[in-house]
Amino acid sequence: MTTKNTQPIRHLTLVVPVYNEADGLRQHVDEILRQLEALPASIRSDLLMVDDGSTDATTSIVQALCEQRDDISLLALNRNFGKEAAIMAGLDHSDADAVVVMDSDLQHPPALLPKMVDLWLGGADVVEAVKVSRNTRSGLYRYFANAFYRIFDALTGLDLHNHSDYKLLDRKVIEAYRSLPERTRFFRGLVSWMHFPAAQIPFEEPARAAGESKWGALRLLKLSWQSISSFTALPLQLVTLLGGVTFLVSLVLGAKALYDKLSGQALDGFTTVILLLLIIGSVLMFSLGLLGSYVARIYDEIKARPHYLVDHRNSRLSALEGRDKKPEER
Ligand code: UDP
Ligand code: MG
Repeated sequence: MTTKNTQPIRHLTLVVPVYNEADGLRQHVDEILRQLEALPASIRSDLLMVDDGSTDATTSIVQALCEQRDDISLLALNRNFGKEAAIMAGLDHSDADAVVVMDSDLQHPPALLPKMVDLWLGGADVVEAVKVSRNTRSGLYRYFANAFYRIFDALTGLDLHNHSDYKLLDRKVIEAYRSLPERTRFFRGLVSWMHFPAAQIPFEEPARAAGESKWGALRLLKLSWQSISSFTALPLQLVTLLGGVTFLVSLVLGAKALYDKLSGQALDGFTTVILLLLIIGSVLMFSLGLLGSYVARIYDEIKARPHYLVDHRNSRLSALEGRDKKPEER
């Protein structure tokens, strides 16, 4: 595809998860396509809509769009699997040199696309759009979102504050992401964990253009816990800490009960009951903590994340190139 004096054509796919977005979907897609058309001539772009089991007119709207244009494709999942699964499905079904993951409700402004592509062509493997503010969301939403990111940062050391799923990923990042064998996925967290050279673009998050957010309070809470627990087993270790604290407290209380007994101030049998309670309590806590630490080990092994990701290698090592393609060979 390369001719003299022209840049190589690079293929860019926009992966857009959609779930019950019939309201205004056509206008949103028009807006997205307008921005795709404004990309440099060296970029061949197309749109992959991943229908995450919509129950409204979304599927038929996307089907009609596919018939009108051959740069739009539809991948329809057979039920609602959630946005993380829809993103994964989109990445699995693209062979582009880079993929941009974008929401379908215009909250991820398509106008950022040219800048993203520029930064990618300039060498960034990941280009992430970072929210400047969340003023379009309710105060309570912002409070919980901030609390979540603070806890996530404290427990995992990954600062995802104001990060979004609006990201451009180079082919090698997509392959690395797909090679992670774990099932519970937190797209934002894992892309950050892989730590490829990334460029950031700040953006003001606009209000949803049409329809409603798909996340109720309960679903968000579940998602927060899933994200934290798939990145750290620290909450399990807290039991051990609690066991230690209980043991210290029981030493003090035990000494006092014994002192009362010896100085004749204790009721008959009371000391025995207190001591038994304290000893059994702290032994139980310790054992739970011990179990927890083994469960944490098992959890880490089961996630089976690769030991390392290779950025590039000396040409003498290229004979081994095929090796890190299959995760099980890592
Ligand atoms: N979405 C999805 N599956 C779901 C929930 C949402 O594919 O189960 C899509 C949705 O259609 C939208 C994007 O994910 O394109 C973000 O969803 P939403 O706007 O509801 O989330 P918010 O912007 O409120 O975080
Ligand atoms: Mg949205």
